[in-house]
This record gives sequence, structure tokens and C-alpha cells, in this order.
Amino acid sequence: MSKFLSKRFEKLLPYVPGEQPQDKKYIKLNTNESPFSPSNSVVNAITAEEVQKLNLYSDPTAHNLVSAIEKYYGLDKGSVAVGNGSDEILAFIFNAFCDDKKGMACPDISYGFYPVFCQLYNIRYTAVKTDDKFNIKVEDYNKINDNVIIANPNAQTGIMLSLEDIEKLLCQDKNRLIIIDEAYCDFGGQSAMHLLKYYKNLIIVGTLSKSRQLAGARIGYAAADKNIIADINKIKYSFNPYNINRLSIIAGVKAMENKEYFEYTRSEIIKIREDTKIKLKKIGFVYTDSKANFILAKHNNISGERLYAALKEKGILIRYLCDLRLKDYIRITVGSAKQMEAFLNAITEIVKEKDLCEIHK
Ligand SMILES: *Cc1c(COP(=O)(O)O)cnc(C)c1O
Repeated sequence: MSKFLSKRFEKLLPYVPGEQPQDKKYIKLNTNESPFSPSNSVVNAITAEEVQKLNLYSDPTAHNLVSAIEKYYGLDKGSVAVGNGSDEILAFIFNAFCDDKKGMACPDISYGFYPVFCQLYNIRYTAVKTDDKFNIKVEDYNKINDNVIIANPNAQTGIMLSLEDIEKLLCQDKNRLIIIDEAYCDFGGQSAMHLLKYYKNLIIVGTLSKSRQLAGARIGYAAADKNIIADINKIKYSFNPYNINRLSIIAGVKAMENKEYFEYTRSEIIKIREDTKIKLKKIGFVYTDSKANFILAKHNNISGERLYAALKEKGILIRYLCDLRLKDYIRITVGSAKQMEAFLNAITEIVKEKDLCEIHK
């Protein structure tokens, strides 16, 4: 830390992204990216001609991209704002609608960025405990006046909250925003998008990083009532008007339009996820009912940390979560069928070695 850093950031603990090692080739199952490449329609749209236009700023309204997202979800014009990844959209939302008086509440097990934004913007933060199976109990939010953010399916666990429960949250207090982060929704969750018609206190956040193969393009969005979207854009225009670059706008439009590739890739992920679960069960793992593109699993007698280290040695990266309640677990991104076969072979060996050690002890 330099002597120049503002006092307000002295204690700030930044978000720690999953490893992106550049040294050797790992099978990467640690950051919930898609194992599929972007579709040909995306690849072919990034032409030399478009690259030659990079001397010009991008469209600050990102009109084509906003329209493509509105069209896909059947939303009115003006219902969508876009950001440089949904992380930026989340930053805008936390900044725009929360402060030290109107705080943010979220489940104790969730996306690690939420408490970081609270620290960054000096927002009161409340973690609401999930039950012993990591389920969110909406009754627990009844008395909370703060805004509420819930990833659905939830981050880390993949557990889905029903739309009925989301409506209960929305009705508990109309003077509070309910933000539903649907980063993982396309892998078997249920989108709350159609509820926007009925509730003015709902914001849906989405990303093209997980189910549309564009993590590296950095595109996220918010969908909400037009006045809320105008507020989000007010923050955006006070921060970085050209937040989506020219090439990402083009890629994002094509990714939203290509329904066929989207449906194919997400159904593959769902299939591979369920197949992997069955195989993990056979070697002694238990897991949550994940409707996301990852599996949160634990083995009866090998700690998450040991599994992480043993897999890394075999060239496979998964996520080990330091959270106290998740320390026995590992989180495995659902990769391609081939990647999962390598993962299952490696983890079967690790479990066998461990069993042998137990016998010899
Ligand atoms: C991955 C993820 C994000 C961030 O996605 P980007 O659009 O890549 O910034 C946001 N929320 C949750 C719950 C996520 O898992």
C-alpha cells in the first residue's frame, strides 16, 4: 500500500477471482466459463473491417446490443442497460441504490463480490444465514428493510429458489429492491424476467459470460422498470459512457440472436452435469441439487483442500472455497464431455489412493 491511498480503502479486501494460470495448460474447471467456443456467427462477425474501426469510440448507448437483449426476452424498449460484464452492472446497482442507510442483504453463501461492493461503496451489509442444506428461507427476509440481492440459481451451491418464493420477497416490502442475479439461470433454473411486468421493485441481472460463451468479451445487463434503467445509466454516464467496446457489442448481438447454438450448448452442459453427478456419487461424493454449470460436491473423508491440491497436481483446476461452511466442498465447473472424463478419471484415482492409505494406517 502506498502512503497515497485514501483512508477509505485501507481495509478494503478485493474480490479474488479464480486462478487464470498462464504457465501451463490445465483443464480449467474453476471459473464457470463455457467449455464451448463462441458460435461461428460470432466469430465471423468480428471482421478485419470491424477491427479497422477501433480508432472510433463505440456506441455509448450500445443500441444494437440492448435491442437484441430486449428482443430475446420480449421486453419493452428502455428496459435494459448493459455493462462491462455483469460485475460492472452490479457495481452500478450497488452504487445507485444503496448507501449506509439503505443497505444490502444477501444469503451468507452466495457470490463473493456482493460484500466487496458493499465495502467499496460504504454500504451496510447483512448476510442472512441459509439453512443447514444451504437453502434460502424467504421468511428470514421479512423484517429486512434493506435491498436484497439473490443469485438464482445461487452461486456456489447451484440451488434454485422458486419463482413463488421470489414473488414472496417482492411482496414483503415494495420499498425495497429485489435484485435477482441470473448468471446461472440458463442451465435449468427459471427466469423471473416475466415478473418485471408486475413488480416495479425488481431488477434482473444477467451475463453473456456463462451460457453464451463470451466471458472474455465482458458483457452483462440489467432488466428492470424504465426509471430504474435510467438511474443505472445515470451512473454509467458518470463513470464510463463507452463501457462496452465495439467488438463486444457485435459479438453480443450475434450471441443473443443465435438461439440454436445457445440451446445446443446449454442442453449439453445440463446433460454432462447430470451424468457427472451420477459418476461422482458412485465414488462416494454427495452434492447439492445444482441447476447451474457447476457442481458443489464433498467426499466423506477427503477435505476440499486436499482434493483441490491433488487435482491440481494432475493438471486439473477446480475451485476450493475458503468459506467456513464450504470448506469440505469443491466446486467443479461443468466442462466438455472430454474434460469431465479426464476429471472423473483423476478424482477416482485420488479417492482410491486415499482409501489405500486408510487401510495401511
Ligand atoms: C459469474 C458471475 C457474475 C459475473 O459475471 P460477468 O458478467 O462475467 O462479470 C455475476 N454474478 C454471478 C452470480 C456470477 O456467478
